[in-house]
Amino acid sequence: MKLLIVESPAKAKTISKYLDGKYTVKASVGHVRDLPKNNKKAIDIEGGFIPHYEISKGKESVVAELKQLAKKADEVLLATDPDREGEAIAWHIKEAIGLKKPKRVVFHEITKEAVQEAMLHPRDIDENLKEAQEARRVLDRLVGYDLSGLIWKKVRYGLSAGRVQSPALRILMEREREIRAFISHKFWVITADVSNQANVQFILECGEQPTDYALVEKILDIGKKNEWKVKDLKETEVKRAPKAPFITSTLQQAASSRLGYAPSRTMGIAQKLYEAGLITYMRTDSTNLSKMAISQVAGVVEKKYGKEYLDIRTYAAKSKNAQEAHEAIRPTNLAVASAGINEEQKKLYELIWSRTISSQMADAKVLRTKLSAEIVGAPSDIPEFAINGSRVLFDGWLAADPAARQDDVELPKVTVGEKLNLIDLKTEEKETQPPSRYSEAGLVKELEKRGIGRPSTYASIIKTIVDRGYVEKDGKTLKPTDTGDVVSTFLEANFNEYISDSFTAEMEDDLDEISRGENQYLKVLKDFYGPFLKMVKEKSKNADKITDLGPVDEQFKCPVCNGPMIWKLGRAGKFMSCKKFPECVGARTAEGNIMEGPKDLGIKCPDCETGTLVERQGRFGTFIACSNYPKCKYVKTDEKEEARRKTGVKCNVCNEGEMTEKRGRFGIFYGCSNYPKCKNIIKTKPTGNICPMCNSLMMEGTKTIPERCSNKVCPNHNPHKLDPKKV
Ligand SMILES: [Zn+2]
Ligand SMILES: [Zn+2]
Ligand SMILES: [Zn+2]
Ligand SMILES: [Zn+2]
Repeated sequence: MKLLIVESPAKAKTISKYLDGKYTVKASVGHVRDLPKNNKKAIDIEGGFIPHYEISKGKESVVAELKQLAKKADEVLLATDPDREGEAIAWHIKEAIGLKKPKRVVFHEITKEAVQEAMLHPRDIDENLKEAQEARRVLDRLVGYDLSGLIWKKVRYGLSAGRVQSPALRILMEREREIRAFISHKFWVITADVSNQANVQFILECGEQPTDYALVEKILDIGKKNEWKVKDLKETEVKRAPKAPFITSTLQQAASSRLGYAPSRTMGIAQKLYEAGLITYMRTDSTNLSKMAISQVAGVVEKKYGKEYLDIRTYAAKSKNAQEAHEAIRPTNLAVASAGINEEQKKLYELIWSRTISSQMADAKVLRTKLSAEIVGAPSDIPEFAINGSRVLFDGWLAADPAARQDDVELPKVTVGEKLNLIDLKTEEKETQPPSRYSEAGLVKELEKRGIGRPSTYASIIKTIVDRGYVEKDGKTLKPTDTGDVVSTFLEANFNEYISDSFTAEMEDDLDEISRGENQYLKVLKDFYGPFLKMVKEKSKNADKITDLGPVDEQFKCPVCNGPMIWKLGRAGKFMSCKKFPECVGARTAEGNIMEGPKDLGIKCPDCETGTLVERQGRFGTFIACSNYPKCKYVKTDEKEEARRKTGVKCNVCNEGEMTEKRGRFGIFYGCSNYPKCKNIIKTKPTGNICPMCNSLMMEGTKTIPERCSNKVCPNHNPHKLDPKKV
C-alpha cells in the first residue's frame, strides 16, 4: 500500500480521482502540531530558538491513524500545499508520525496532469522553506508574548500586540489622525448650460473650482454679460492596457470592489475552487502564467474574439521566491468560462477567468475629446469652461472584461469659433472631504505596497486586529477603536522602530532569504531578539504608564465629588473617571451619563482570601466578583444559577470535570468545571454524545444542523457537508 497525505479532506477527494486507486489518500485536516498557547517556555531561546511543539488539541486520533497507516505503507508521500506553510505542515506530519524519509510532491493545481506529473518528480522536504515558516512562527510568538506583557503592565491587562498586526494597526491610526486633523474648506463648482447653433443642449464645467466667492461672483457676472464661443476641440487617442493576472492581493481587491467580498471570504471561496481542481493555488505573489495556460488563453481569445484581440504579454514579477508558488491565480482549464457549485464560487471563478483571458489581449483604444469654450472679451483670470467626451474605438481586452469598460460620452457636433447660447450659469457650494478610511482590501493593498506581510498572511492580519477589538468594521471600512488608538499610540511612542514599515519589510525579506537558503534561522532570530528583548526590558522599567488619556471637557463634572474628570480606557472603550480616583470612584460613560461604580460588599473573597467581594455592572447584568480581579478570577454565582449552568456531561479531556455554562467576552460558552487545571472549552451546549470521527464532544448546532462535532477541524463539525456514503 502507498500512502499519500494532504491537509484537507476536499483536496484528498479531488486527488484520489487522479491516482487510479494506486494510493490511499488521507487528510491531516490542517496542522497536526503547534506551539503550546501563551507560553514562552515552548521556545528554548538559549538552546538556539528551538521550538517545542505539541500535538494540536483534537488531533491525537488523526495522528494515531496516520501512524498506523504509515507503518503498513511501502511508501509515504506528503502532498501538502506548495508554499512555506504547506512545507511546514509536511514536516510536522513527518515528525508527528515518525517518518524516516518521506517523499514530498508539489503541485500548484489539482488537475490530473499536474498531480500525475508531480508524482514522477518527488523530492525531500525542503528544510529552507520549513525553517522560514518556523522562523515566522517563533518570531511572532516571542514578539507577541513580550510586547503583550509590556502592554498589560503599561496600558491595560489583557491587551495584546503582535509583530505584523501592530504595523497594520499603525497604518490605520495614521489615517485616523489625518481624518481628525482635517480641516475642510468651501469651494464652488460652476457649470454653464449652453446650446450650439443646431440647438443641441449640453453642460460645460468651469476649469477652476474657486475657493473665494468674490471670484465666483466675477465669473457669473462676466459670463452672463458676454458672448460664449467654442475655443478649441482636441481629440486624442489613448490606449488602455489590461491588468496582470491575479495574485493574492489583487484578487482580494478586485473581489472587494467588483463583488463586495471581504478578503477572508474571497480566500475561503478561492480555497474551495482550488481544492476542487478549478483554479491554481490562491496564495501567490507571482503574475506568471505557464506556457500551457498561455496557449489555452490564446485558443480561447482567437476563437471567441478573433486574432486581432490576441496580445501575449509577460508581466514583471515582484517576487524573488521562485521556489514557492510561482504562478498567478488562474483557471486550470481556460476553456471553461464558468465553474463552481454555488453562486459565490461561480462569481469568483468568472472574475478570475476574465482577468486571466484579458491579461493576454490587445490594448483598448479610446478616443478622448475635449471641447473648451471661452467667454468673449473676458479678462485673463477668468478660466475657460470645458466638457470631456470619450468613445471606445477598439474594445480589445475590454471585450473579455466588460465591467472595466466605461460608458461612452458623445459630444455634440461643433466647430471651433462657433457661437454658443448661454441658457443658464449655475454655482454649487461644496466642501473638501477628509481622506477616507481603509477598506479591508485597501489595507491589503497598502500592506503589500509597504512590503508588510505576505500572500498567506494578509487576511489573518485583518482578522487579528478585528478580533482583538482594536478595529471595528464600519460598513466596508476599518475604523480603529479607542483601545486600538491607545495601544497604537503607546507602541508608536515606545517601539516605533519595531513597528515601522522598513523594519517589518526587512524582516519579511530576511524570512524570504531563509526560504532560499541565503540566510540562517539562528542568525536572523539572534540578530533580532537580543536588541528587541533589551528594548522591552528598558521600556518595562522606563516607559510611562498610560492611565490618563487627557482631561475631559469642563462641562462634565464628577457625579460624586463634583471635581474635574479625565479620560480613561476601560474594557468597552473610553470613559470619564474622577481625577481623584481611587480616592473618589465617580465615573461617566463616553457620552457623559453617570456610571454606577462597583459596590464593595465587605465580604472576604473565598478564593484568594485577601480581596473583598465587589458588585459590578457587566455586559450581562450585575455580578459579584473579587476586588483583586484580574489577579483573582473569583465570580460568585447563586446556587439556583449554578445548578442551571451544569450540563451533566463529563469533560472528555480530563475525564474528571463537568462541562458547565460560562460567560466570556464573546458571550456564552461551555467549559470544564476543572478550570484552570483543564482548559477544555466548546462553543455551544454539549449534547452528551461523542463524535464517531474524532472522539470529541458533540454539541448543539443550528436549526438545520441539530448536532455537530465541537472540534472545529473535524469534518463532522460541518456534518451537512459530509458525503453520506462515507459516514
Ligand atoms: Zn470625584
Ligand atoms: Zn479573590
Ligand atoms: Zn476537563
Ligand atoms: Zn469530530
